[in-house]
Amino acid sequence: MKKRVLITALSLILYCTLTSCSFNAHVEDYDDLEVDNKEDIAIDQAEEFASQEDNESEENDYPENSEDEMITLTYTVKMLENVWESANMENSRFQTSEEFINQVDYYISAISEFVLKENWYEQYPDIPSIEISLQNSVSITTVRRNRIYINLNKLAFEHDLAPIAHEIAHVIVKSSLYRTESLDEGLASYLHERFGDNPTVHTWGIDAHVLANMFFSYYEEEYNTVFSVIGTRDRRQEEYMLGEQFLRQIFYVLSHSFAKYLIDTYGIEDFMKLHDATNSLIDEYYVLYGKSFDEIKSEWHSVILSSPSMSLEEYDSHLEELFDKHNWQWGS
Ligand SMILES: [Zn+2]
Repeated sequence: MKKRVLITALSLILYCTLTSCSFNAHVEDYDDLEVDNKEDIAIDQAEEFASQEDNESEENDYPENSEDEMITLTYTVKMLENVWESANMENSRFQTSEEFINQVDYYISAISEFVLKENWYEQYPDIPSIEISLQNSVSITTVRRNRIYINLNKLAFEHDLAPIAHEIAHVIVKSSLYRTESLDEGLASYLHERFGDNPTVHTWGIDAHVLANMFFSYYEEEYNTVFSVIGTRDRRQEEYMLGEQFLRQIFYVLSHSFAKYLIDTYGIEDFMKLHDATNSLIDEYYVLYGKSFDEIKSEWHSVILSSPSMSLEEYDSHLEELFDKHNWQWGS
């Protein structure tokens, strides 16, 4: 039986002040609770809770019959106060850490519902604890057992262009055992576009098929290089994903476009089965879609080519406008 920690409503309220929690019991009137130094208490509670959590055994001594006061904690999210305070939020839609954490909670619930993984936390060995930090490096999600660290690029966060929904998608849908980077990144980018309140990184709010079409028109060789590994388990995906900026962008845009094509045409349920496939991935296309991998790829390519065309000049002015709007000097 999966381990769950039951804590009282009062502890949860204090703990949730700065952090965020999911629970399946109703808590009333917690906005009315008056506590001084709520954030400090929340951190203390979090630390205390973390140490208690480490000492928990499978059984616990909490009474089982007082449902009004007992809450099942399924995950926690936090951004430490000093991290929040280190950011200049003048150009951000988030004015308080609570607003930000609420947004994260919304992404967790909307994304997990859409990908049919509402009990996503059960894939972690213990209650997942998501800690969000801001650094001047690439946005990335790292999982160590039940501890999940999301680093968001600080400048992007300050200018409302951080891939928050994208990284949350990686928490909900972990990479499959047989890594398929294009399905992982394609799905996360698709989910960001669908649920995110800001433009996706790499497509910058442009339709992924339209941008893929632009790459095909101007950079056919690079397009074909990346196209050949999309939707496979080919190890070169990692090379393109982590490689030089240009191929990296084509990799993300094509992955996004492929996931969008599969999900919009055949539905999320089959896409999730494809993503989680444990036998031959190439054969799985036929099993799920009744079409060979090559047929699927060729249909997808036709969708790209029939998308509206965009010139490089139009692309450049779109980026310029977008970064102006977010008050961010490109390349700063
Ligand atoms: Zn990603």
